Amino acid sequence: MNEDLIAPCGMNCALCAAYQFRLHDLNKKGFRRTYCPGCIPRGQNCLHMGDVCEQLAQGTLRFCFECAVYPCKRLKALDKRYRTKYHMSMIANLDQIRDQGMAALLAQEAQKWRCPTCGGSLCCHNGLCMNCQLDDLRRNPKYRWNED
Ligand code: SF4
Ligand code: SF4
Ligand SMILES: [Zn+2]
Repeated sequence: MNEDLIAPCGMNCALCAAYQFRLHDLNKKGFRRTYCPGCIPRGQNCLHMGDVCEQLAQGTLRFCFECAVYPCKRLKALDKRYRTKYHMSMIANLDQIRDQGMAALLAQEAQKWRCPTCGGSLCCHNGLCMNCQLDDLRRNPKYRWNED
């Protein structure tokens, strides 16, 4: 897991479908998805967040916890969606970076998202390993977390 892939909002871009599709160049394997190199490497708004807040758009903060209104309503709504659907919490990630440091978060993420079969990283958007479970996604391109 890579520090540069932890977005200001607390998202771990390494787990994102748009990042993983690009990483494995899956559009050459019969898929059609938008690729993203990660929030910080991309240098502009996240594909999933639409109209991000002005502070994030201007890049004045490295992390939302540096913001006076952290966690704002918008971040809480995003966090709720991700806790409900994608088994992760941006706010928990941010709190961990703030309280225990980046190394602690990266170690936790590496363990939590490790594919038990090949050692790659699972995708938080579908719960699959984009290295060794592509057939599940081929069978059902909308596959999400065992909801076949
Ligand atoms: S789409 Fe958003 S969450 Fe996904 S890799 Fe890009 S910046 Fe990160
Ligand atoms: S906490 Fe909310 S207002 Fe503050 S930088 Fe993050 S998204 Fe923007
Ligand atoms: Zn795997």
